[in-house]
Amino acid sequence: MTRSGRLKRKPKRITIKVGTKVLTDKNNLIDKETVKNIADQISTLMDKGIEVILITSGAIGSGLGMLNQKKKGRSLSELQAIASIGQNYLMDIYNSYLRKRGYIAGQLLLTQEDFNDRRRFLNIRYTLNALLKYKALPIINENDSVSTEEIKCGDNDRLSSLVADLANSDLLVILTDVDGVYDQKGQLIDHGAEIMNCKDLLIKGKGSEESTGGMATKLDAVKNVSCAGIECIIARGKKENVILDVVEGQKIGTYFKPQEKSLKARKRWIAFGLKSRGKIIVDGGAEKALISENRSLLPSGVKGTSGVFSDGDVVDIVDESGRTIAKGLSNYKSDEIQKIMGKKTALIEQLLGYKDYDEVIHRDNLVILG
Ligand code: GLU
Repeated sequence: MTRSGRLKRKPKRITIKVGTKVLTDKNNLIDKETVKNIADQISTLMDKGIEVILITSGAIGSGLGMLNQKKKGRSLSELQAIASIGQNYLMDIYNSYLRKRGYIAGQLLLTQEDFNDRRRFLNIRYTLNALLKYKALPIINENDSVSTEEIKCGDNDRLSSLVADLANSDLLVILTDVDGVYDQKGQLIDHGAEIMNCKDLLIKGKGSEESTGGMATKLDAVKNVSCAGIECIIARGKKENVILDVVEGQKIGTYFKPQEKSLKARKRWIAFGLKSRGKIIVDGGAEKALISENRSLLPSGVKGTSGVFSDGDVVDIVDESGRTIAKGLSNYKSDEIQKIMGKKTALIEQLLGYKDYDEVIHRDNLVILG
């Protein structure tokens, strides 16, 4: 495929994420003009045969606006109800503009549990492919009406990166309320290729009251898709024709080139798809063995654990200063690790009364984070 402006190639399948602040006005009501513009631009792409998947926020935001409520002080069940009202309304508006252009939408509401379970994960892929075959626009949001902290994806930036990856998108476009990512001097970064190591980014903290993310969650999303070999652009959602211009390869927003050496799908699932349930603290020797020698984590290198987790759960591997160096699937429960930490592998059976594995985390189930 040939280059398209600054994109490596003309994208055939695009995942687009639109944040709450793009979709709502200053009174927290849905900004119908913006929804229309987004639906129109997506329709234009679909007219050209480009497949689009839309991740939309705005369920809670628009629900709050409709009910004239503030998020602060609302109970979980009230927020879940507000999300169900807002989501329904949001879909109505998207649908009305899509229909004018001859398109229909299919709605998927997902939670973290859909990504934890391989079968459900694959089902999402099959459903998306079928929707795209019908030339329908898949519109996805977190299932805020049922999700609690435990089962939440957390934010739609993360959700969009997981979907872009599982759907094998060529490009992820994250639309927000700023022009892109700024450096410490307040200059817009045109090309964020060095994102994995870049310390100069101005990461504005959390999002607004109604939205969840902020720039930090967007950059996490970039890391995820970058490891999957997917190009990514963060740009201002209310800018006229922004989606069409981005797809044309024009210089808009901050562009992120994907990593050349991308991680294998299973490792990406461990690193980004699953949420950590706890931590394993390792000593300097184990850190070196994991990072430089591509070794498994043995009980002898473990200094401690934090949180309660089970065997098969994903945990963060942290150094003694608390810095996360890797993620992996634990072979043992947290209380078992407490009993075997610092000890030789040969002692596992004696200490636990059984031994299924020599390693606390096998290197095949371990991902070093950049
Ligand atoms: N799922 C939330 C909503 O639709 C938004 C989450 C986010 O802003 O990342 O209201």
